[in-house]
Amino acid sequence: MEYQQARRCRVVLVPLPFQGHITPMLQLGAILHSKGFHITIAHTQFNFPNPLNYPHFDFLALPDGIGAQTISADNFIATITAFNTKCKDHLQDSLARIMEKDDQHNKTACIIYDEYMYFAEEVAKHLRISSIILSTSSAAKMLSYIAVPMLQKNGYIPIQDSKMLELVPGLEPLRFKDLTITYFRKLDDLLQLMAKALDPRSSSSIIWNTMDCLEHLTLAKIKQEYQLPLFPIGPLHKTVPAISSSLLEEDHGCMSWLDKQPHNSVIYISLGSVASMDNKDIVEMAWGLANSEQRFLWVIRTGSTALPEGFQETVKDRGCVVRWAPQQEVLVRTAVGGFWSHCGWNSTIESISEGVPLICQPYFGDQRVNARYLTQVWGVGLEWENDMNRKDIEEAIRKLMVSKEGELIRQRAKELKEKIESSMNQGGSSYNSLNELVKLIWSF
Ligand code: UDP
Repeated sequence: MEYQQARRCRVVLVPLPFQGHITPMLQLGAILHSKGFHITIAHTQFNFPNPLNYPHFDFLALPDGIGAQTISADNFIATITAFNTKCKDHLQDSLARIMEKDDQHNKTACIIYDEYMYFAEEVAKHLRISSIILSTSSAAKMLSYIAVPMLQKNGYIPIQDSKMLELVPGLEPLRFKDLTITYFRKLDDLLQLMAKALDPRSSSSIIWNTMDCLEHLTLAKIKQEYQLPLFPIGPLHKTVPAISSSLLEEDHGCMSWLDKQPHNSVIYISLGSVASMDNKDIVEMAWGLANSEQRFLWVIRTGSTALPEGFQETVKDRGCVVRWAPQQEVLVRTAVGGFWSHCGWNSTIESISEGVPLICQPYFGDQRVNARYLTQVWGVGLEWENDMNRKDIEEAIRKLMVSKEGELIRQRAKELKEKIESSMNQGGSSYNSLNELVKLIWSF
């Protein structure tokens, strides 16, 4: 509480209401609360968190008019656009009322918003308070977005099939197939959204759930582009005591099973909150796991109904299948020796913070960018680019978990964990960035 002062200073947080975005924003809220700030979460009615789980935050519900729906790659852009058009007036009016009561002892300092909730910047500007962007993905993803106008100018977009495996000039080691724009059918809609999310407008700075030791060069390039202070303060989840921000019910039963398994013996398989395997791939995965003879904890969100006959009898208690796991707790356990992941940014950060090497099976969005960095730059993952077939799955799992070939990857993962820990210790880069961020907010 080194910066806590006599006055109350309110920070308003505006998360994008998807699992991978809510989590880092709530973690940031908990960090700032621990530094003496009063936290108000302005949240869409869509996916509204249970306020009882966060007694130290105030909540402000933003009517969004979109009703209940499942988010997929197909409706992602339309849903984000709806939030940005429907939530603005309500946030502005509600904050104006709160701020009427501000005085020299109670102050609304700023709005921190998810980069995709850009309407919040207009609200801050209108109310004459500062705004800060939270980027919940990697700096490498942002750099790949920033490069889009240059790629358009040089005639690379739309990307031709023949170019897919070529390196993108200026973005190496990314190939054209790794870019988010490659997979969007409605490319114009995506380009418009990117342009809005990338424009910092009047925002004072950008907070990142990343570490300088991980993305130093990329952050430097972004800083040069934006000429704004950047605060890489990750890994957020290691800076605060665990807070549960899970939208799905976590199955804690798997933890007692996990605790009985030997050191580094379990591969954890999870594809995050949106991506999923089809039934055919689940069958291949099941037999790949069974034949690898490794222990496993497997998250199948859609349930285990697609598991093939004879699988349970074959693996017996060598494996555990759940609908949703308490992932951060899982990855901390010493029994976990590998992670088969879709490489969402939260999963990536959670895994490397614990020194857990990965098999990278990206699906869409920024996952391919993260996978490419995990495998080619940080050297802590195996790239999975094959069709799902049990033979290759078995081989990849053995390679990551036990074979001599995977030893270097396992070793590098341990070294990266140590670097990340140093960045969080007193005097480390994340530690210093957080102190600077706190000073900046107090100065508003
Ligand atoms: N997660 C979890 N239990 C699971 C699977 C995922 O708690 O069984 C959490 C995970 O810890 C991470 C988030 O869900 O914080 C997924 O975010 P990520 O950015 O990795 O992927 P997304 O869901 O956005 O694709």
